[in-house]
Amino acid sequence: MLKLALKQVDRADVRIRETVPTDDPMWDGVAVKLSAPVEVDLTASSVGEGVLVRGSLGTAVVQECRRCLKEVRSDVEVHVDLLFEPLTAEEEDETEGEVYPIPPRAAEVDLTGPVREQLLLHVPAYALCREDCRGLCPKCGVDRNDIACDCVSESAPSPWDALKKLKND
Ligand SMILES: [Zn+2]
Ligand SMILES: [Zn+2]
Repeated sequence: MLKLALKQVDRADVRIRETVPTDDPMWDGVAVKLSAPVEVDLTASSVGEGVLVRGSLGTAVVQECRRCLKEVRSDVEVHVDLLFEPLTAEEEDETEGEVYPIPPRAAEVDLTGPVREQLLLHVPAYALCREDCRGLCPKCGVDRNDIACDCVSESAPSPWDALKKLKND
């Protein structure tokens, strides 16, 4: 799977190309709905004591439009730039961002966690089916992209409404 043998990286750059299916256990419990396998294309190179892993992750996700709740499919393309470094226990607490520890005397580095993390970080928080989606009417619930309802907008009733009512009566 997404494992990197450190000895191999010492000798030459290692390319990792994999297609991870949407039902792979590595996505278990993940809050986003993947609608395409995740294409992983990474190159690992040795830098000093550590390993630099760069490349891309590509997939597609299905989310609800935040206004009309329709399903929206969007492509996700993530560029990753990860540094793996041998760290002491002390340093490990301080690491932030995209530096991951290499456990002491490890023969390989597992990229599964970091790859999952990077992908999820870059999935947009919400989707819109289109920029000007009109959403659902808060009163009658119709999809205002399809049907124009006569509901009055949210604003407080104006004095003119009372006048209109008088006239109609
Ligand atoms: Zn919408
Ligand atoms: Zn309405």
